[in-house]
Amino acid sequence: MRPTVLLWDIDGTLLSTGGAGRRAMERAFARYADRRDACEAFSFAGMTDRAIIRTGLETVGREATEDAIDALLAIYVEILAQEMSLAGDTRVHAGVIEALDAAARRAKCAIGLGTGNVRAGAQAKLTRVGIYERFAFGGFGCDHERRDELLRIGAARGAAMLEAPLEACRVVVIGDTPKDIAAARAIGAESLAVATGTYALAELAACAPTHSFTDLRARGALEALLG
Ligand SMILES: [Mg+2]
Repeated sequence: MRPTVLLWDIDGTLLSTGGAGRRAMERAFARYADRRDACEAFSFAGMTDRAIIRTGLETVGREATEDAIDALLAIYVEILAQEMSLAGDTRVHAGVIEALDAAARRAKCAIGLGTGNVRAGAQAKLTRVGIYERFAFGGFGCDHERRDELLRIGAARGAAMLEAPLEACRVVVIGDTPKDIAAARAIGAESLAVATGTYALAELAACAPTHSFTDLRARGALEALLG
């Protein structure tokens, strides 16, 4: 079997935080810039944390220096931990646990994250629903501001775990937005799109992912995931 690297998006794909992630970001902007409305006008779907903060800072007329982004990220991570401890409506999406179980049983399969969340944010969200330990590695929002670049980093880490050259591996990006699909294409990976986030199946299919499903319980989804 071909060595396989799975790179899972978090928000809208593995789970929904019921708005806790957005609340944490809004509170971070309120504390840092006294502007809770900084992110009001745009969707976070498919954006990396650094890109969200850069857009928010520009929205409120602040210069988005790397130092400013780092400072806001530190506040966000602290507030996110509080929000996640309160977030009663965080839930794992349908079919995710079964898919992770099936992937864990497959030989030569590295299960990792490909997420715009910084590592500490990813840990807070996934720990809340008890699945953080299932991901041995990842490409994160703290690795790069661009989604394609953080996926490239995650793919290389997965191949290293499998002790296989990256060119010999099948890389599959599992995500819920057009940005996941585009970033997968940019690094030459397959994309498996699920309509469990804010995008409908038809909208995702229009972006020509390798595979698309309503959710991971759909007929053929596990076969598409695992090859
Ligand atoms: Mg997502």
